[in-house]
Amino acid sequence: MPLQLGTAKASPGKLVYGTWDLVEHPTGGFDRLPIVLAQGNAKGPTFWLTAGIHGNEHAGLQALHLLITKELVRKLQGTIVCIPALNPAGLRTLRREAYYHPGDPNRLFPDDKPRNLSDPDVDPPSVLEQAYGRLFAEMKESANYWIDLHNTWTGSVSMIYRDRVYFRDDGTPAQVKAAKAEAEKLDRQLGEMCEAYGHSVLNEMGCSAYFDDKLNRSTTGAAVSVARIPAITMELGTGHMPDPNIVKACVTGLTNVLKWAGMLEGEYEPITGIKVVKPGYPCRRRGTPRVSVPCIVRHLVEPGDLVKKGDPIAEVRDIWGRPIAEKILVSDTDGWIMGRTHGIVHYPGTEVTGMGVPDDLPTVMPYPKGHFRR
Ligand SMILES: [Zn+2]
Repeated sequence: MPLQLGTAKASPGKLVYGTWDLVEHPTGGFDRLPIVLAQGNAKGPTFWLTAGIHGNEHAGLQALHLLITKELVRKLQGTIVCIPALNPAGLRTLRREAYYHPGDPNRLFPDDKPRNLSDPDVDPPSVLEQAYGRLFAEMKESANYWIDLHNTWTGSVSMIYRDRVYFRDDGTPAQVKAAKAEAEKLDRQLGEMCEAYGHSVLNEMGCSAYFDDKLNRSTTGAAVSVARIPAITMELGTGHMPDPNIVKACVTGLTNVLKWAGMLEGEYEPITGIKVVKPGYPCRRRGTPRVSVPCIVRHLVEPGDLVKKGDPIAEVRDIWGRPIAEKILVSDTDGWIMGRTHGIVHYPGTEVTGMGVPDDLPTVMPYPKGHFRR
């Protein structure tokens, strides 16, 4: 059976274009996902490449347009399923969210938890959540690998967010052992994908922050934790005004990952033209340091800078320009600067930078206790 997604039916040696019905409008017509199927003449894995679930993040769309070419198909072994715009409503309106779902569209993918859909006091899943559920089922059917492209902040470093792999430890000892071994295998594949892509790497937040923020229901979070498919989120710097160097380096990185997956021949190409941060120890992402008073800040660091605990991060002043509170906000940890948070005006408790901080947590962990209880 040839691979089909929506109206696109894969054909060896060809680029095939089509659409997939996402959401039907009350005003008639549909929001449809653009689908490109790129199938080589030689057999091989199926790799899903997606972008733009956050509608104001545009670099991935450009990278996929540059990557998916007739020349690529000629050399390809296997099939690329490319969806360059996962959130057409957000893309049209330049907003992170789709106007028909309040909330983050990248927290709507399935988790493994039982849900009580019959409680009339609980809102039913929105049209978008239902649509992404259907899309996820299609992905599970065909994908061997998945990369989802995003952007973080203006000027942020191009980086990978690597999900941890969680496993169930509530079965018999033999079941737990098998679940752990399977999780470790998946985690190794994630590590290899990161290595092949060649940009800076950050592990996702620690266990409770990850589940509190429903990151297990992001595209790649769900792919890893539910579908057990190697999947990684790439963050490509500025969203609304893509950095051409990052877009280019993304295409190179994706080409390297396709080589890793056995879908293209040849050596990995070096990543050039962007900052690649190699602190020498694993890091996870965190918003830090945070201001203690309402203030205006002036950053003293650049995205990509390595910092030591105690290093100055930003000057802190009142609106009149007088130094206040800590005067100089310093880093409370070693690490590196992912990017400055947007704006210079801060309320107490807000972070002035995103940092990669030393990560001593394992990348394979049991699910938190009670996770599968409703
Ligand atoms: Zn995003």
